[in-house]
Amino acid sequence: MAKYVIVGGVAGGAGTAARLRRLDEKAEIIMFERGEHVSYANCGLPYYAGGVISERSRLFIMTPQKFKETLNIDVRTLHEVISINRAAKTVRVKRLEDNREFDETYDTLVLSPGAAPMRPPIPGIEDEAILTLRSVSDIDAIKLKLDTSGAKRAAVIGGGFIGLEMAENLRERGLEVTVIEALEQVMNVIDYDLAAIVQQHLRDKGVALRLKDGVAAFKRRASVLEIQLQSGSTVEADLVILSIGVKPDTKIARDAGLELAANGAIKVNEYFETSDPSIRAVGDAIEFKSPLLGTAITVPLAGPANKQARLCADNIVRGNVKPYGGTVATSIAKIFDLTVASTGLTGKALARAGLPFAEAVTHAGSHAGYYPRSLQLTLKVLYHPESGKLWGAQSVGYDGVDKRIDVISAYIKMCGTVGDLAEFEQAYAPPFSSAKDPVNMVGFIAENAIAGDTHTVTWRDVETALAERNGAFFLDVRSREEVALGTIPGAYNVPHTEIRERLSEIPRDKRIYINCAIGLRGYLAERVLRLNGYSDVVNLTGGYKSWKAASAELALLGEGSGKPAATGHAATVPAGRGLADRAGGMANEDGSPQRAQGSKEITVDACGLQCPGPIIRLKQEIDKCSPGDHIVVNATDPGFARDVKSWCALTGNTLASIETQGGIIRAEIEKGMAEGTATAEGKAPCARSDGNGATFIVFSNDMDKALASFVLANGAAATGKTVTMFFTFWGLSVLRKKTRGVRKDLLGRMFGMMLPKSMKGLSLSSMNFAGIGPKLMRFRMKQKNVDQLESMYSQARMAGVRMIACQMSMDIMGISKDELLDGVEIGGVATYMEAASSSGVNLFI
Ligand code: FAD
Repeated sequence: MAKYVIVGGVAGGAGTAARLRRLDEKAEIIMFERGEHVSYANCGLPYYAGGVISERSRLFIMTPQKFKETLNIDVRTLHEVISINRAAKTVRVKRLEDNREFDETYDTLVLSPGAAPMRPPIPGIEDEAILTLRSVSDIDAIKLKLDTSGAKRAAVIGGGFIGLEMAENLRERGLEVTVIEALEQVMNVIDYDLAAIVQQHLRDKGVALRLKDGVAAFKRRASVLEIQLQSGSTVEADLVILSIGVKPDTKIARDAGLELAANGAIKVNEYFETSDPSIRAVGDAIEFKSPLLGTAITVPLAGPANKQARLCADNIVRGNVKPYGGTVATSIAKIFDLTVASTGLTGKALARAGLPFAEAVTHAGSHAGYYPRSLQLTLKVLYHPESGKLWGAQSVGYDGVDKRIDVISAYIKMCGTVGDLAEFEQAYAPPFSSAKDPVNMVGFIAENAIAGDTHTVTWRDVETALAERNGAFFLDVRSREEVALGTIPGAYNVPHTEIRERLSEIPRDKRIYINCAIGLRGYLAERVLRLNGYSDVVNLTGGYKSWKAASAELALLGEGSGKPAATGHAATVPAGRGLADRAGGMANEDGSPQRAQGSKEITVDACGLQCPGPIIRLKQEIDKCSPGDHIVVNATDPGFARDVKSWCALTGNTLASIETQGGIIRAEIEKGMAEGTATAEGKAPCARSDGNGATFIVFSNDMDKALASFVLANGAAATGKTVTMFFTFWGLSVLRKKTRGVRKDLLGRMFGMMLPKSMKGLSLSSMNFAGIGPKLMRFRMKQKNVDQLESMYSQARMAGVRMIACQMSMDIMGISKDELLDGVEIGGVATYMEAASSSGVNLFI
């Protein structure tokens, strides 16, 4: 009869013991557990602290009695194995109740001692308010402190999944919570762009974040614990949860001379044999070969520990029959309303390992957008740029994150490729998925990239290009309404539907960085450009949404390209307030927005619509309302929470309230007295400031004069002036674009024929030499690296220069709006006078 001794009675230990019994009815099985409990739900501990799991007894899956009754396993709690005598094949055990020690023999010893929370020697770390979480006793201590000490402020040190689960549960109990994390991001199992979404959500939920800042010391000041950070700032707390990682709990293995890894983990082979074949080990305490990296790793997760336990028992009883293939470290966590999951390797891990990789990102609905409660998720896959082999995937969202990551995890374990994702067949009906599931979408994007149909770049590449100022041309192909709410700094807007007509505005001698909202329209625009001879074109994967989330977070750290061009993004949402704020307007006693008598309320369901869908729906409805009416918009696009604030500010409406619950954003908007100041295209008007404006009347259609006026206008805009260019009479030719089929009367046709048809056709005021002069001038400008007229026009637009075509001159010369370049306003003398009256500079050219 074999005798098995197991050290550790939770995931790995209890699992091995149970399987051993199922395979060997006769064996003697003894399981020693140092703690009071075995086989408890340590993954559920944070939810017990927060009250989500209300009954303590629900944490216990098995008891020693049940083990005896159902499995005939001898479970001894409060028994610590203190040493191993490998030669004698015995373990020395201490009974913690009375400190009595005894030896127990074994044929096979299985170690599953787990990993213990790290407690580095930081000054003051022994303070009684600093607690860690691993076991039921730990959570009892935390709960006792919460229940009895009147703690109001908590600090969680470490932004990993246990730390954030605790942060959520402490917040749910009404505490002020600060998460302190030494890295630049929380949740290191995902990359920065996805972590940025989590961080914004945490702030929305009132959790303060101190990122890229480590703890230097803890100082007790009467009843308060002061946490001194390396940056020099401090955080005060009544309670601290220390959750900065775990370390294999392997002292007995070390003392017994078993081979250990540098991090203290026990080295095992594919059958879980340690360097001593009579001793096997599983769970958080072991190190084994990663199927992706080929190098040894330690993965402290319950799923792998449980599977290893089963396999270990099989190999013990049946001989080494089934090797362990390793884990791809698939993990998931609920962070307030968000689900965060990952599998395989992150971009950071791949870069560290020096492995070639590319990434594809999509933002999509959890199921068909038209079916209720379609909630947003972001899905990213990392893959080999040539073979398409899957390296990893990450997802953050409100619903459906788990199934996407589970599917991709399975493909990764089966050595799948992005082609497999493209062909993945999901169970589809509108309430569950889309005909093209997000998993398919990332597969399509990656396949297109491998085929060379698209060249994708990441938000980091965009940041690098912005920082290097390498002359790249940023082309934003979203609609004007979307661009008005924020764009990549300096990006030039050509909506993707207008690309074909406006190719002349897009330079051929620069690298074009295209972005749309999520990457799809960018891809369409990229194809148009490529098929029109542009070769150096790249498309931002994940689009503006990915860049905005990540760059806004970087800006908070004082890094990156800074804030997006428009107002209202995550960085401006202060912690501790959350999105459930009264945003503006008067409130009733119960907190609901106050309404004017006789005003009506309209509810708009914009759930499932991607940006700018919710804003467009809002605009459509508000146009039908009277001042004082309220429009309630329910949307699931997370960007809507910020966009609606900016939109209201731009349009003179009032955001009465905004709250987000379960991934649904409910914004209540009160229509303003006057229609806002946004232009018809939804663009933000140039801000006016007395005396700080510059106005240029462009009267001439000479190329040199047009050049001079743009040089001056761009210069004035660069100095922060609000610039208006008023094009009248011959000056209108500067704004003309080549068009066909515009109906005109006889005189209009005559003017049309005689006037230059676009900027390219302008002549010089002197030395024109029958048209050779302008060509020479352009050549000379190129030689001297001076921007051409077209580039200057683009720069002026990007700088927010307002260009007005004189309505009266257009009428006289028979020029219609269709003949003018995009972005030009039509105005009269009043428009000009209004601009001129606040200008310190006023030139006639
Ligand atoms: P453990 O479960 O830690 O068990 C080891 C046991 O061995 C301990 O009870 C210890 O007391 C005992 N022991 C150690 N040394 C001795 C000794 N010398 N003598 C006797 N007994 C000894 N993983 C997930 O995948 N998903 C989650 O959501 C998740 N949530 C978690 C939440 C929390 C708060 C914690 C702490 C962990 C969570 N984990 C989660 C991790 C997961 O619990 C572990 O990966 C898993 O329990 C590891 O199993 P194990 O058997 O290796 O170690």
